Amino acid sequence: MTLETPIEFLKGIGPERAKFIKNVLGFTTVEDFLTFYPLRYIDKSKVHKIGDLRTEPDAEIQFKGKITDIQEVAYGKGQKRLTAKFRDDSGTLDLVWFRYSKWMKEQIPLNQEIFVFGKINEFNGIFSMPHPEIEADEKKALSGTLLPIYPGSEKLSKRGLNNKFFQTVIADIVKNLPNLVSENLPGSLMKSLNLIGRIPALYHIHFPKDLVHFRHAENRVKFEEAFFFQLGYGLKKQHHKASVAGNPFPKIGENFNQFYNEFIPFELTNAQKRVLKEIRTDMKKPIQMNRLLQGDVGSGKTMVALLTMLIALDNGFQSCMMAPTEILAQQHFNSIQELLEKTNIKVRLLTGSTKTADRKVIHEELLSGELSILIGTHAVLEDIVQFKNLGLAIIDEQHRFGVAQRAKLWAKNKIAPHILVMTATPIPRTLAMSFYSDLDVSVIDELPVGRKAIITAHRREKDRLSIFRFAKEEIEKGRQIYFVYPLIEESETLDYKNLLENLEHIIEFYEGFNVTMLHGRMKPAEKEAAMQYFASGKAHIMVATTVIEVGVNVPNASVMIIESAERFGLSQLHQLRGRVGRGAEQSYCILVTSDKLSSDSRTRMKTMVETNDGFKISEVDMKLRGPGDILGTQQSGVVDFKKLDLVADGKIIKVAKSTVETLLKNDPHLEHPENFELRTYYAKQYKGKNKWGRIS
Ligand code: ADP
Ligand code: MG
Repeated sequence: MTLETPIEFLKGIGPERAKFIKNVLGFTTVEDFLTFYPLRYIDKSKVHKIGDLRTEPDAEIQFKGKITDIQEVAYGKGQKRLTAKFRDDSGTLDLVWFRYSKWMKEQIPLNQEIFVFGKINEFNGIFSMPHPEIEADEKKALSGTLLPIYPGSEKLSKRGLNNKFFQTVIADIVKNLPNLVSENLPGSLMKSLNLIGRIPALYHIHFPKDLVHFRHAENRVKFEEAFFFQLGYGLKKQHHKASVAGNPFPKIGENFNQFYNEFIPFELTNAQKRVLKEIRTDMKKPIQMNRLLQGDVGSGKTMVALLTMLIALDNGFQSCMMAPTEILAQQHFNSIQELLEKTNIKVRLLTGSTKTADRKVIHEELLSGELSILIGTHAVLEDIVQFKNLGLAIIDEQHRFGVAQRAKLWAKNKIAPHILVMTATPIPRTLAMSFYSDLDVSVIDELPVGRKAIITAHRREKDRLSIFRFAKEEIEKGRQIYFVYPLIEESETLDYKNLLENLEHIIEFYEGFNVTMLHGRMKPAEKEAAMQYFASGKAHIMVATTVIEVGVNVPNASVMIIESAERFGLSQLHQLRGRVGRGAEQSYCILVTSDKLSSDSRTRMKTMVETNDGFKISEVDMKLRGPGDILGTQQSGVVDFKKLDLVADGKIIKVAKSTVETLLKNDPHLEHPENFELRTYYAKQYKGKNKWGRIS
């Protein structure tokens, strides 16, 4: 037997079953079984006391005692169950059978020392054990180990592939472990991290001798997964740094200095300064920058982007900045054009709705080099858009773009442009450490001074009148407000109708104030006009769907009212809330929900009320939704760890990451003799499997 041996040759399988298993579980080799880890374990090594029983739903435990009485009890419509009183020296427990035969009833031993094993049910504070396993032989009952329970299914069980089957097949495999696998981590590393060997780990993960062995085994298996995953990224990043050339931007010149000294309207925050320095250091080198800029909503990423583009310009290169929606692109264009008003730097906007004649001008100016900064949507990616010398590409709200789209930017210049991707959706630390390991990450962890924390409240629909009144007072103080309504795609027409109805109510209540509306069905020009009407301060109220979710910046708006807030995810709520609190005024976010909320919804509302910290919110979000959903569809399928849990195992991931960093620093090509096994294993195991593509 080797790891590659096809499963049909295993005892108890054969070609027929092998085919079935392959269809259901995808297993083809011994290795697939070996890495099919138990879901949980049952502990028959211990005997519990009935008197100590607490509610532990689904716990399977064992007692030692005597059955003192058996009775058939009628219940329901002519049905009968069998109930036995079971006692130990601390209490009594009912054993219950809902299905039984006369023969079975006669087999139940009375007044004899026995072991019973099974799940505990609780009903009105009374405990019972349905369908217990009964064992009179002490040796068999106290098997002394934890028994594995494998993730099974009815489909499998029906074909005899039940837990017992998996136990037997895998027990046969682990007997051969010394011939099947060898150590893949250097001894020094295992010693310093207190890791057990690979062979004992694989043994005790299936058949742990006790809890202590199990913990060591689990820790080793998890570490191994995290370690080789990080090694993959580490090697990729190293390779990128060694091989992807970039245009060095050594200069800080006139454009940057003039803007910085004369036109910048505020003092940069320390975080903005630090991040800018990190970017500068990258771009000085003849290596392509590949950097992720994370910063909570309102932290001032746009200014960092602009200053970065000015550095490119000072070094004789063009820049482009891409945003996921027309509104955002338009807004970036407006604010950047305004900031650059007194310079003679040329900026243009390219989106899906740019007129043909204007496009032609843009194309020409890009080719001649006359245009320094291009701002746009996906339209920038089209093949016809060619630059004279694109030196820098910035992607705002990067999670909205697919990998392929981002990759297109690389091809826009002979020497790939430096890439800066920006996101306001903070990624939980464990995810960032895992999935963005091949990017350099900068974080703006500070908001501009003078911002007041947004006050968030959770209200019910019945409170609407007081909410409306509160908002009116704010408008009277000179502020502007948002009303946001959810939009579900399946019933777009219905939602649209709702939106219009709500709009009517609002117009009626806020008589004398100007109301504008923004939703996905409007044409770009209409959207732009509505946005402009609100941004200019002429409209007091913006009624919108989530079109305004990302990036919209109107500093005078101070109240965000989110209707049916339970229909939004956490990161979306946080994004929406980020539309207020952008000026010096106290801002408010009001989450309106119905009375009946699921427990997840309640957690979401509570989290929003308790914190404004996007990183904390993202952690909760990951716990609620799981890492796959957080990463988004573009990278789904990458979180197929067998044992490692991205939510719970942050500590292991951190250790693995720093271990890999030290390893590659000391031995970048894994040439030291003590890293021989590691290298061989990696090459065999992970070659070609590195499917998680680069982020940009
Ligand atoms: P985000 O990081 O969400 O993209 P923006 O770049 O839109 O944030 O900035 C939010 C607001 O804060 C803008 O009005 C911007 O002009 C302002 N701003 C940015 N940096 C500073 C700063 N250092 N001091 C004061 N205001 C700033
Ligand atoms: Mg932004």
